[in-house]
Amino acid sequence: MVIPARSTAHERNAAYLLEQRLEKIYGIQVDVVADNIKTAGNILSVGATVYADYDFTAKKTGSYAVTAFDGGVSIIGNGNRGLIDGVFRFLSEFCDYEVYTKDVIRYTEEKSLCVPKNTKIESTPFFEYRKVDTVSTGDAEYALANSLNSQIWFSNEEGGVIKYLSLFGHSLTNQFCKRDTYFASHPEYFALRDGKRVDKQLCLTNPDVLKIVTEEVLDLLKKSHDPTADLQIVSLTQDDNEEYCTCDNCRALDEKNGSHAGTMLTFVNAVADAVKVADPAYKNVAIDTFAYQYTRTCPTNVVPRDNVIIRLCSIECCFGHTIDDENCKENVLFLQDLNKWSKICDRVYIWDYINNYSETFLPFADFQVLQRNMQLFYENGAKGVYEEGNYYMDICNGEFYELRSYLLCKLMQNPYREDYEELMLDYLTQVYGPGGTYLKEFIDLVSSRSVTKTKHLHIRQQPADCLPGITATEIRKADKLWENAKNAAKTTQQLNEIKRSELCWQYWKCCRMKGEYSPLRGLYSYMKSHKELYDKIVALGNTAVGEGAIKYLRGNSFSIYFLPPTKWESKYDGKLWHKLDPFADWLYERLEELHG
Ligand SMILES: [Zn+2]
Ligand SMILES: [Zn+2]
Repeated sequence: MVIPARSTAHERNAAYLLEQRLEKIYGIQVDVVADNIKTAGNILSVGATVYADYDFTAKKTGSYAVTAFDGGVSIIGNGNRGLIDGVFRFLSEFCDYEVYTKDVIRYTEEKSLCVPKNTKIESTPFFEYRKVDTVSTGDAEYALANSLNSQIWFSNEEGGVIKYLSLFGHSLTNQFCKRDTYFASHPEYFALRDGKRVDKQLCLTNPDVLKIVTEEVLDLLKKSHDPTADLQIVSLTQDDNEEYCTCDNCRALDEKNGSHAGTMLTFVNAVADAVKVADPAYKNVAIDTFAYQYTRTCPTNVVPRDNVIIRLCSIECCFGHTIDDENCKENVLFLQDLNKWSKICDRVYIWDYINNYSETFLPFADFQVLQRNMQLFYENGAKGVYEEGNYYMDICNGEFYELRSYLLCKLMQNPYREDYEELMLDYLTQVYGPGGTYLKEFIDLVSSRSVTKTKHLHIRQQPADCLPGITATEIRKADKLWENAKNAAKTTQQLNEIKRSELCWQYWKCCRMKGEYSPLRGLYSYMKSHKELYDKIVALGNTAVGEGAIKYLRGNSFSIYFLPPTKWESKYDGKLWHKLDPFADWLYERLEELHG
């Protein structure tokens, strides 16, 4: 392996990453030498060596190329991440190195490494900012191999990170011009609602508020800005409620703009201007704000400064139809908003959702829209994508969250790849074993039943609305697919993965009283099947069924034996029916005796 004689820390680190993985794959130590030393044999060139005789600096940040030449192959890249992405692309293409989850990594069993003579891979990022939530995305190897660049912290030499220096969201009132600091002494800094000041949002047309927030932002930058990072972000975003200010000034500015984004953006622009002139080193700093709920509509009389990011959130959308599906009103409106924002802003980031936050164990059948939506984000000008998923997966893990995350990482790198279905099948067979083919059939089945012309998929979907129109035959078919998958498992790990994902199907059936959860099969069978599902969920380490503190699993006997899983959570604590727990236990014991 060859690196430049006057190598940078980036190049040395990229070579080190490659060397380590080649050793793991082939069990050999590759020597790393400077390019001014004569070497025998094939050359693996990393960085801007004499073998990479083309200028790469003018390319878009994060670009890379892997190119064969007579006697070797060169990997080159720019920005903090480009060269490392090139190294992992090389490993994936020629050593079959794939990081599916933090625990499942595959690589070739061949003992030789062969790069075709005509190899010429060039890549420029479709999105500058890429982030997805699951457990695995927080793993360093996963984040590097799958090109996530805002997930976990890496030093610039190690690949860098697009970092939010402030809170990731909802910073106004919580971090800047904090309600705890100012509301008691200066209620006029806060939102006027029904003639009264409330501490829910700021009054953004109050000049003192602008002064305070500007000073706080400049102070934050002074303390934590890194001029060598590719991009650093300070978020100025509303708190998570819709209590915007209705004072005369705010109202007038909003009316002039046809949107509450009018006051928000005017305010954010003013801070962005102050940041720009404060220090030339802040040229890698962007100020971010939400187009979310009441600020989602694009304003008509103000445009974002060139150092402002608009984060457009799809929270109202349907996730079973694509965002260009004319049958889906919310989605059509969202795409229109994206379009309008992109026309006035060169840095629109998407905040998208890939999870059911209320009933997280239900199937979230969105696999049929992920690729088209990613293409539409790109085609309509988005420069970054955050896929907010099941971030509480360590306490609530069923369904196919890791699969979804893996696919999204691949799509963020290239929304137009032609092997989406094969990619899914490959993941399923690697992680779940040979039975992965049956799981692919299951996913295809539920994807085809995700939505109808009139029924949609939202992030708080209830069981009654989940999989509309699925037939009894399809339910029996799905049961068979899970059985086949389990029978085909080769290892305990694969079997456990299948059982974990199967919870989504069992949870859905239990909520809908289908199959083994049907009361028509008799009282004992009904109680037993419910209890078994509850025990399975708990045995797999789960303590919650959805997002937030009220969604913890609770083991009250009466609810477990008689009520649907949606009632197994802590928000129902103290209900009258819990008084019947001893009776439920007694009854179940008698039935067990009776049925032997
Ligand atoms: Zn106001
Ligand atoms: Zn829809």
